[in-house]
Amino acid sequence: MKLLAAVAVLLGPLALATAVPQLEHRVSYDGYRVYRIATHHNAASVKAQLKGFATVPFNLDTDEHLDVAIPPGQISAFESLGLETEVMHEDLGADIAEEGSFAAYRGVEAQAVPSLTWFDSYHSYNDHVQYFNDLQAAFPQNSEIFTIGNSYQGRSIFGIHIWGSGGKGSKPAVYFHGTVHAREWITAKVVEYITYNLLTQYDNDTTVRAVRDSYDFYILPVVNPDGFVYTQTNDRLWRKNRQPRSGSSCVGTDNNRNWPYMWNVSGGASTNPCAETYKGQAAGDTPENQALVAFSQKLRNQGNGIRLYIDWHSYGQYILLPYGYNCQARAANHARQTTLASAVAARIAQPYGTRFTYGPSCSTLYATTGSSVDYMTDVANATYAWTIELRPTGSGGGGFVLPPAQILPSAVEQWEGMKYLLATM
Ligand SMILES: [Zn+2]
Repeated sequence: MKLLAAVAVLLGPLALATAVPQLEHRVSYDGYRVYRIATHHNAASVKAQLKGFATVPFNLDTDEHLDVAIPPGQISAFESLGLETEVMHEDLGADIAEEGSFAAYRGVEAQAVPSLTWFDSYHSYNDHVQYFNDLQAAFPQNSEIFTIGNSYQGRSIFGIHIWGSGGKGSKPAVYFHGTVHAREWITAKVVEYITYNLLTQYDNDTTVRAVRDSYDFYILPVVNPDGFVYTQTNDRLWRKNRQPRSGSSCVGTDNNRNWPYMWNVSGGASTNPCAETYKGQAAGDTPENQALVAFSQKLRNQGNGIRLYIDWHSYGQYILLPYGYNCQARAANHARQTTLASAVAARIAQPYGTRFTYGPSCSTLYATTGSSVDYMTDVANATYAWTIELRPTGSGGGGFVLPPAQILPSAVEQWEGMKYLLATM
């Protein structure tokens, strides 16, 4: 026994998890149809009709609609309810299969810039690590890879720091988090495209040069690595981290309800460990959140502060401003934030006409407590702290499972919005 325990300690939980992929437990969504159900502000009556259906919640409910997956054997019974619906996925399992058929990233020759084919498909966590290492290696004078700590299962929470002519750490911070919610795969790709352009366009684009010379960028593409890996090995719809809790057989805490600010406020998170928005047993009690809090405090305290924070999510096409915890509360610079968000939405729409809604998080979408944006605004003193919910809207198809053909367009339109924001704010 002792020897086995010692081996487990030596290998660490990550090594064990990698050695024994739990593919036999993969959740199948074959034949599941995903619907958006209009609720007309009366979700309770719709939910009453759905009792007896083995529904899988496909996103968090808003005031306007419920998004749910219905198992194949119940589709005809569901349709006979006559609810007002739109189909988001005809066959969720087929769409997951198409999205998941990606080739391994092959890397690049020493110090070469990785090609844009990276954005043709999704990738594994290890490939994201390699991709960032390759990008950084091509620009060693103006960037470095950093890690802020480890996830519950021991994976590195890493990022890239990029700076301009003022030298490392000399300017206010622009700070991005991707993939806090494990199933929101598009978010890592979008922040990687922004990273790619910040690095590769410095010599070609005067706007990029100006913003690089004005800010220090800290970009973390996968802040919930355990959850992200789990979406690729076990359950594509997993959202939370993978931390077990005493007294419950349910696993996982929502890292975006665990931030140590307004954590105690009720109504924007769940105290049930089985819920998708489980807030944890105490404020800031997940390993991932503790690492992110420590790093955020470091950025706040290092002299130039945080000018812009963005937490990248999907889906819904929103630019969400503070606050989440209270639908009446507004940031002190709310008018300025609204002006910027409106202009960013207009820039996002330019390449493909994609429409983003903007406004305060709570009043525009739903209440959230212990969220990153509220923490960044009031504790980390970020001048601007936003959540961006990427494609799709949900109406007219899709959800977390965004077809690979939409990765690059999603990234291109966000880059347009970011170029404007970074040059203007
Ligand atoms: Zn999310």
